[in-house]
Amino acid sequence: MSKLDDNIAAARGYMARFAADGVMNHIGGENVPAASGETFHTISPVDLKPLAKVARGGAEDIDRAVAAAKAAFPAWSRTPSAERRKILIKVAEAIEARAEEIAFTECMDTGQALRFMSKAAIRGAANFRFFADQAPYAEDGAVTRTPTQMNTTSKRPIGPVGVITPWNTPFMLSTWKIAPALAAGCTVVHKPAEFSPMTAKLLVEIAEEAGLPKGVLNTVNGFGEDAGKRLTEHPDIKAIAFVGESRTGSMIMRQGAETLKRVHFELGGKNPVIVFDDADLEQAVDAAAFMIYSLNGERCTSSSRLLVQAGIYDEVCTRVAEVASRIKVGHPLDPETVVGPLIHPEHEAKVLSYFEAARNEGATIAAGGKKVGDTGCYVAPTLFTNATNDMTIAQEEIFGPVLTAIPFKDEDEALSLANDVQYGLAAYLWTNDLNRAIRMTDNLDAGMMWVNSENIRHLPTPFGGVKASGIGRDGGDWSFDFYMETVNVSFPRAPHKTPKLG
Ligand code: NAD
Repeated sequence: MSKLDDNIAAARGYMARFAADGVMNHIGGENVPAASGETFHTISPVDLKPLAKVARGGAEDIDRAVAAAKAAFPAWSRTPSAERRKILIKVAEAIEARAEEIAFTECMDTGQALRFMSKAAIRGAANFRFFADQAPYAEDGAVTRTPTQMNTTSKRPIGPVGVITPWNTPFMLSTWKIAPALAAGCTVVHKPAEFSPMTAKLLVEIAEEAGLPKGVLNTVNGFGEDAGKRLTEHPDIKAIAFVGESRTGSMIMRQGAETLKRVHFELGGKNPVIVFDDADLEQAVDAAAFMIYSLNGERCTSSSRLLVQAGIYDEVCTRVAEVASRIKVGHPLDPETVVGPLIHPEHEAKVLSYFEAARNEGATIAAGGKKVGDTGCYVAPTLFTNATNDMTIAQEEIFGPVLTAIPFKDEDEALSLANDVQYGLAAYLWTNDLNRAIRMTDNLDAGMMWVNSENIRHLPTPFGGVKASGIGRDGGDWSFDFYMETVNVSFPRAPHKTPKLG
């Protein structure tokens, strides 16, 4: 048996319980069907076969989950932070203990390749550890003094919060939001993406087995327009942490307006990788290819626009096209696979539609540009050349293994092309000229920039975007700022005269 056969057999074992029991909602520590009894299927993009029936939660289920989160909030928020820390470290350990199950489930449900998903649980556990370790200091603030007053600033958890996540790397992304919320003392209602509900079920189950009290984390499956919408409108939900498309972010802002919801948005991107002719070309090519073809290109920080200085444009494009054509597209559980199937036939159709758009707009397809195989959502790693920045393939987030290469003359043009999109999440810059790197990074519209590097995440640093790419930052203390209210208490330091009126 090959390694792939072994992995498929193991995955079948992990999937069996989902096939038998379905994916239920998890409210107040109990697995429950949707109040309406309705279900929908989650399919595997490997072969489009159903993996499990999923509870189709709606407003009633959200209301129940919010009631559970509200009931659990007083005890959880008052649990000593050292105790919360201990529980969350146990959750991290329990995630690591089930790393293979999480990885294989994620591969089958999302189509992401095992070579990347094998780290999903490790990164999820790292999120829990990082924020657990900060829990004991989460309330801390500053003391500021005037001659007459002493001000003490501190933070307190905001209340039950809603977490709404997308289908790309859902386990890792969910932990990224849920771990700091729990560490801050909030309780959570999580609405996972309808295309990828399975690992959210594992997360809540693992967390409770590790000691998280019932009702602290609740999971309601369902569609955005009903379960998601109700969560964003619920008066007892104090904040919404959302990761997804920019236009969904706008909808959530409207839906949350009535209840003055605090929102944190991590949205789309059309991130440039800018290569100047003085760069280390080999490394720049490897990094550009890695940032668009890893994780199926279904990655908010993917380098989806390759901006190359004119003199090296042909050489860089030739090299990237060679890398793209060598990449193995295949079953996500094959250890050799780099690009697995895209999440769902609907998304595949969207990605394929850009191949037509590229042809119509006059770009050249230098690699890929086609579907692979007859079954499953497989798409070839693609490079468009001879493109201009006004084409839809340069402006819209395609969210697949698809790269658009555009030449530029000089620094000014590189900057104006880079910034001429609605998004501003990440930017990657390749140059060995330090002064140019400073000038460029000072002026690029991006919340995160990497110079001479692919995206390497460090949890204490701020993660988030500008323009249509989002509002707010994750990581470091920024996550706590979102999940907590900052309050100030002022005491007199010395007798003082209060103004007498009347
Ligand atoms: P999406 O916006 O379609 O859905 C995300 C979630 O929102 C899902 O759970 C969905 O059910 C829910 N939703 C949809 N409509 C809703 C509504 N009206 N009210 C409440 N909830 C609603 O996004 P997607 O297609 O699942 O994910 C891909 C997108 O996510 C891409 O744009 C990608 O760039 C973005 N993303 C951003 C980051 C980041 O950190 N900036 C990270 C990952 C993904």
